[in-house]
Amino acid sequence: MDLSFNCTCGAQIRVTAVDAGGTKRCRCGQVNTVPSLSKLRQQAGKPSYEVGIADKLRHMFAEDRLPPDNVCVECGSETSDILQCSVECERPRAKGRGYWSTVVLGMLAPFWFLISLSHDYKNAEVFGEDLIVQTPLPLCPTCAAAIQPRKKDLHNLLRRVPLYDQLLQEYPHADADIRQ
Ligand SMILES: [Zn+2]
Ligand SMILES: [Zn+2]
Repeated sequence: MDLSFNCTCGAQIRVTAVDAGGTKRCRCGQVNTVPSLSKLRQQAGKPSYEVGIADKLRHMFAEDRLPPDNVCVECGSETSDILQCSVECERPRAKGRGYWSTVVLGMLAPFWFLISLSHDYKNAEVFGEDLIVQTPLPLCPTCAAAIQPRKKDLHNLLRRVPLYDQLLQEYPHADADIRQ
């Protein structure tokens, strides 16, 4: 992705997504604040962000469009019962792991060190909020009682919903959990 911005001297400075919001020194010596990623993308004539599967699901959840259907993932009968669960997508570990990871890294990098140091779960949750995707799962009461879904079964259950399967394929090490 070709991203760049102009220094006050007029020179064009090339940057990558992870530079967004940081600083970059121009050849003229001026230290510039790099625009936000959405600004950079706009200037490059691209939509301000690409919608990955995690983003898509977060939007769908916000718009009350999840779960995608009312069919029990275990027995296939219609149900309005829902197992409230969420998937915490793996945290980015390195550059170049794909666009989404790069964006997240770019947004969180300044806090990353703090998060890894922090033993305060609440703080970590606030900073990591963007990585958690709500994945309500249709599960009828009969099946819920029969299988008593636990955290370790969640991946298999979630994979039966194509959209969630897509998410778990993109984030194979994601951590699924049941919301209490
Ligand atoms: Zn300059
Ligand atoms: Zn069922």
